[in-house]
Amino acid sequence: MEPPKMKDVLVLFSGKSEEVAANFCKKGTTEDAAWPVKDGAMTTEGYDIVTKRKFTDFQLHVEWMEPDMPEAKGQAKGNSGVFMQGRYEIQVLDSYGIADPGTGDCGALYGKAAPLVNACKPALQWQTYDILFRAPRFDAEGKQIENARITVLQNGITIQNNTVIPGPTWGETFGELKDPGPVVLQYHGNQLQYRNVWILPLPEKGADHY
Ligand code: MG
Repeated sequence: MEPPKMKDVLVLFSGKSEEVAANFCKKGTTEDAAWPVKDGAMTTEGYDIVTKRKFTDFQLHVEWMEPDMPEAKGQAKGNSGVFMQGRYEIQVLDSYGIADPGTGDCGALYGKAAPLVNACKPALQWQTYDILFRAPRFDAEGKQIENARITVLQNGITIQNNTVIPGPTWGETFGELKDPGPVVLQYHGNQLQYRNVWILPLPEKGADHY
């Protein structure tokens, strides 16, 4: 899917290896990321990649394809993930055909909220996530006053509907929760492909005038 033609849209990856290096670091370093790129897609390989830019509220579009791993099961079947602010994972996994997906399955807010329905396509087909992320809110003293929230459409179907995020889905937080954070794409031992990654940072509120 083509990114919308808006000046604020940041194309993070449209199929060129230069974009991987320009827009992402290897996790835990300041080194440019170098996931291999072929035929307009990048392959998860060796380490997580972390956007150099950090974000607060945003709309994110990601396309991915699961590898064909018919013998693999559960968390070993095409595992990756998309992390909002590096803190909140929407699981990427081959959960095709699972009747009652749980909090570890594809489309879950990892460990916290299962997808509403199973919208997965089979391995070797391109899939999409369109994600609306609203960061937690803090008062002037730095006290959290609202939780983060997330809405996710997988292949055009709503699988997370303004889900409240009670806290980070894993230990690593890329700084304080009140601060902007990166988008992270996970390498979890399996080779998946990603393409057409773009993000639209959103203002935290609109105008006050009528
Ligand atoms: Mg994962």
